[in-house]
Amino acid sequence: MINYQEILDKIYNEVYAEQYRGKVADYIPALARVPVDKFGMAICTIDGREFIVGDAHENFSIQSISKVFTLTLAIDKAADTLWQRVGREPSGNRFNSLVQLEYENGIPRNPFINAGAIVVTDSIFEGIGKTKNNILRFVRELSNNQTISFDEEVAESERIYGDRNRALANFIRSYGNLNHAADDVLDVYFHQCAIPMSCIDLARGFLFLANKGFSPIANKQILNIRQAKRINSLMITCGLYDAVGDFVYRVGLPGKSGVGGGILAIIPNQLVVAVWSPGLNEAGNSLLGTLALELFTTYASNSIF
Ligand code: GLU
Repeated sequence: MINYQEILDKIYNEVYAEQYRGKVADYIPALARVPVDKFGMAICTIDGREFIVGDAHENFSIQSISKVFTLTLAIDKAADTLWQRVGREPSGNRFNSLVQLEYENGIPRNPFINAGAIVVTDSIFEGIGKTKNNILRFVRELSNNQTISFDEEVAESERIYGDRNRALANFIRSYGNLNHAADDVLDVYFHQCAIPMSCIDLARGFLFLANKGFSPIANKQILNIRQAKRINSLMITCGLYDAVGDFVYRVGLPGKSGVGGGILAIIPNQLVVAVWSPGLNEAGNSLLGTLALELFTTYASNSIF
């Protein structure tokens, strides 16, 4: 049996020896304040084992990782129309790019770029308060942590500095691909990005994706096998912004990152691994988080390939 604790400890020591840790996201003040030397990692296996190292219990802003939670809700609720409104191809552009949207008539390339995630949130929208509650209830249930809540300061910062997301939402709406008022959908979107969670919360919360759609944490079938396969597949092709090729090349797993410095990755039928290091590389992915996951699949000789 692979000794995951030994591997995590080894990775921790190696990562701490790195001199350059990347640059903390600074587009909103609440994220710019996070100390760059934080590092945590957690593994949850589908048979109930958990391993942690470093700041694995400390909360950070999940940011774009929330797009996987909302896509999961949408795939279950709005699947019939969802794929007419959002594509399934890597974008090759920045996560908040506007250019492609114009020549592709307001249909975002995939659900993990901002434009696509805004459409996904629109597809599960049932009023601001209710949608926010639905998301929170879902995340709490999946992670078995009732203390998870929105960070209102981060959400407000996202709103204040959200001109580009407002541009995206209004542009999509001009093509008839947003059913609700742009500001209402964005209110939910800014809040979902502003959920603080720890590595252990995330590793537990996404266990259903490693386990054919069944969450051992919530003791519930969240998605069917085919839906779970599809979300994993989308993470392989679109989960790490426009650096997904490099990530999959190095790590060999489906994953999803956020500008808070978190990355979650799945080994189907085995485990979820979540890592957090707030310093980002140029593509907006956690620099040391990516390195840690690369070391993880290398030392464990365990990936999807
Ligand atoms: N709240 C960020 C935005 O919408 C999320 C970015 C991210 O994590 O990729 O710009």
